[in-house]
Amino acid sequence: MDFKNCKRCGKLFRNIGRDVCPSCMRLDEEQFQTVKSYLVKNKTAGIQEVVEETGVPHDDIIRYLKEERLELKGEGGEMFLVCESCGDPISTGRFCKKCLKRLQSDISGIAPKEEETKSTKNSEVKFRIIDRYNNK
Ligand SMILES: [Zn+2]
Ligand SMILES: [Zn+2]
Repeated sequence: MDFKNCKRCGKLFRNIGRDVCPSCMRLDEEQFQTVKSYLVKNKTAGIQEVVEETGVPHDDIIRYLKEERLELKGEGGEMFLVCESCGDPISTGRFCKKCLKRLQSDISGIAPKEEETKSTKNSEVKFRIIDRYNNK
């Protein structure tokens, strides 16, 4: 069985395709909604602004991007996240489309590695909200 550490509390939990354990999920969802409603009202907000205004940690916003709940757009946005496999700039998720295709076949064979997300000094990054867990 596949287990992973919760990105919020560090607890080991069964991997259900998310980075937080079930007990953190509700909190995490609330936090995401805070970010989301801020971005709805402030469509041109950059990541720094979002961090400051919502109080949501930078790392958590990066995680939403990697979970493909948020997508970066606008100039410089692509440089903010890179494919964890080949290093190509991407706007959402963890891998570029090329690698995703390649990796999907043997995804279970990959040891998850903790890698610092490369962040740029560019604060002009814009978001697109993909609230895929709330699709009606
Ligand atoms: Zn947790
Ligand atoms: Zn790639």
